[in-house]
Amino acid sequence: MAVATELSGIDLDALRIEGIEVLVVRLPQRRPHPTVTGPRRLGEYVLVKLHAGGLVGLGEATVLKEWGGDFGRYYGEYPATTVTLIEQVLAPAIIGLRVADFDSLLSAMNAAAKGYPYAKASLEIAAHDLVGKAVGLPVYQLLGGAVRRSVPLAHSLGILPDSVLLEEAVAAVEEGARTLKLKVGFDPDRDVAAVAAVRAAVGEDITLTVDANRGWKTPNTAIRAIRRMEEHGLAIAEQPVQGLHDLAAVARAVTVDVMADESAWTAEDVLEIARCDAASLISIYTTKAAGLEGARRAAAVADAAGFACNVNGSHETGVGNAANLHLACALRNCTLACVLPVNAPADRQPTEIVGRAYVDDIVVDPFEFVEGALVVSERPGLGVELDPEKLAKYQVGSTVVV
Ligand SMILES: [Mg+2]
Repeated sequence: MAVATELSGIDLDALRIEGIEVLVVRLPQRRPHPTVTGPRRLGEYVLVKLHAGGLVGLGEATVLKEWGGDFGRYYGEYPATTVTLIEQVLAPAIIGLRVADFDSLLSAMNAAAKGYPYAKASLEIAAHDLVGKAVGLPVYQLLGGAVRRSVPLAHSLGILPDSVLLEEAVAAVEEGARTLKLKVGFDPDRDVAAVAAVRAAVGEDITLTVDANRGWKTPNTAIRAIRRMEEHGLAIAEQPVQGLHDLAAVARAVTVDVMADESAWTAEDVLEIARCDAASLISIYTTKAAGLEGARRAAAVADAAGFACNVNGSHETGVGNAANLHLACALRNCTLACVLPVNAPADRQPTEIVGRAYVDDIVVDPFEFVEGALVVSERPGLGVELDPEKLAKYQVGSTVVV
């Protein structure tokens, strides 16, 4: 950082948080994304603008109140509570601190409030964006540098009617997706039939994964369903059941890799998963561990255990997804296809189906989609710019200024 400071002429010690704007946006979904936890309303998220030294850093909290960790130990947030927490608790704790001391910012926020990883992540990501802009480096460079510059996408299919599911699966493959992830966990017979039908429709070369979101009620139910899916070339079973004991029972009984998602929020969770042999793959989010540094730490523990990762999320807007992409490019064990959206303004959509969570976005430029993969921006910071007209169009309520 010292070299970058010298090159850019920026005094990082003087770069201290001066103010924060907080607002809520609601993007129009392309289609509903039903899962076992319900018909999720995705796209109503909290954006933050961090101000320091004449620069603005962007961050996002992809709050989802219906989602959480095992047995309610962690949980999503709600836009109004996230806005209030930032305004009344987190902002007062970090205003005046050095923007570039990411871990110190998180420590200050943790001292001010337990939990609320989404709110904390939005501010921590905004700090990365701002420092990247200050020193003229993309965020991946602040995360240890890129081990790849593009990330293959896994296209996520909700629990959709059969005809819609098959039509979308085929269209996604035609657009370049090489991995399809099917949401399951509701009815094992329906789930096995869906995997069989999608396999028959897309052929043998496509990687198929399922995500049960803990929906199968017992390990034996999950084991029977996964074994039947193995006959159709299933590659990964994500979070089949809840809790490390039951997850380990499933992992022992099937030949496909089990991925932990709801069970894996922090580095400490990943260590417990390794100790219990409860999974062999980890789903990393920028939000579960309260930001990019926490996500990197979780992935590092997974790496030490020999686990591969992907970066998943909750259909972020272009701001949150840029953070996903920089992270995925910087993690050496992020070798699996990632469930990331392809954000773009309505009139410049690079895809019809793959990763197209929304029909429009708040960012000026489309994400670059090449041969089924998202290409990371080389611009400073997250590399995204907000479109003021789109922001005005999709903002819900007023902006809180702290
Ligand atoms: Mg999942």
